[in-house]
Amino acid sequence: MKNLEINGLVKFAKTSGLNGYSISEIAKVKDIDLNGALKAIGKIKKSHNGDVVFFAEKDLYDPDKFRLMEWSKVNDKEVLIKTFDNKMNLISTDKVVPVAGKPAQSKIIGKDFEVVLEGHAVPKDGDVERMLESISETRQIRDKDGRLLRTEYLTPSEIDGLHNWKVVMPDGTVKPIIDVKKSKNGILTVTKDMEALDGTVTKSKYRKLPDGSWAMRLNISKDGKILSGRNVKHKMISANEAESTINGKKYRVLYSSDEIKLLNAKGETDCVIDLKSLVDDNNTPENALKLKNMLKECSADELQVISKKLKTLEYNPNKIDAFANCSAGKVSTGDDIFIFRHEMGHIDDLFGTVENDCAMGRGIYSTAQEFVDIYSQELNMFMKEFPQTQRQYVDYFINHSNLETSIQSFQETAAELLASNKSPDISRLLGTRTEYLERYFPQTRSYLINA
Ligand SMILES: [Zn+2]
Repeated sequence: MKNLEINGLVKFAKTSGLNGYSISEIAKVKDIDLNGALKAIGKIKKSHNGDVVFFAEKDLYDPDKFRLMEWSKVNDKEVLIKTFDNKMNLISTDKVVPVAGKPAQSKIIGKDFEVVLEGHAVPKDGDVERMLESISETRQIRDKDGRLLRTEYLTPSEIDGLHNWKVVMPDGTVKPIIDVKKSKNGILTVTKDMEALDGTVTKSKYRKLPDGSWAMRLNISKDGKILSGRNVKHKMISANEAESTINGKKYRVLYSSDEIKLLNAKGETDCVIDLKSLVDDNNTPENALKLKNMLKECSADELQVISKKLKTLEYNPNKIDAFANCSAGKVSTGDDIFIFRHEMGHIDDLFGTVENDCAMGRGIYSTAQEFVDIYSQELNMFMKEFPQTQRQYVDYFINHSNLETSIQSFQETAAELLASNKSPDISRLLGTRTEYLERYFPQTRSYLINA
């Protein structure tokens, strides 16, 4: 760093009133005009008579932009989030305000959107982590002249964690994007018809019966050309038997307390999962039973991956703390099937490719050049379209600010989409995260279906 820059930074640190983290974030902005920033921040301070708290954060995607969060005692009910470029031009101003009667919720009001978020305190690694879940979203989509093209509404469905999502055209026409229904006799139906930014369309229909039987049809296409498809039926015949059909290929699944046996259409053994070494040896009898029941939901192709790559399955009472140890072939999870499928996505991607540190593993999907290229293209479109509020829904999948988070983002994207290709998210946590990823990364998803 040149002397001049250091002097500028010292002056900035002494006079801006920003904390060390914020200063280092602003200093990282490409070609930042520190004097200009100091002047602009001074002006804002003056407008609040000095009684203001700032927090700054560099944009994860645009190297020449940052956000300044601004809170003052005079107006302590709202936080302003201002996005500036490196010349201190104000790009946008969002507002965060409380939601009346809902102390855990807050609302972000932006130029063309409103999002309601809810905070959850989640125990993690002996500590408590605060997680924000998006409850609802209204978004106006305009053309380049500002004319309203459509409004999209994302609202909670009657199933925790899942949303209904619809488009309303200016003439009042309504088109569902995600439709979640639960009938009186307990049948859950999730229908999706999602269009990505480049016009790629994902259609899926999922049905789940109270006895655990389920079916999914998934179809991804662009300009009428089918890119990928999946058709799965997993039908429970009795507590000890299921029929699992993958793209027309039929299997029988036999369950006992010691093993799961998969037979092909000719009655030959396809694979056997030894539940003693996988489950019983690592859990109390009560927890072992929960995990064995969860495994009954897995379709034939999932069981094939489990039999090859999963060595230890451990019950973890803390849902959000689920993890996969890819070198040992171990998953620790609660009995939430979608979270289990996500962790199995990591195992499928990384087992056998890594000695001890999963983070350094070369995933068979997540480091494939074609996967990286397709994902990067969709990521660019996504980042251009969405401001920080929507990016945050999927921040787990799109952080390429350093090598470590970048490897993690590739791996997490692969794991999450491998999971949702098996069966849609019916987990009770962070639904919007998967809904956004599925809608806006369909070509990446397609690659994983066809891989
Ligand atoms: Zn993960």
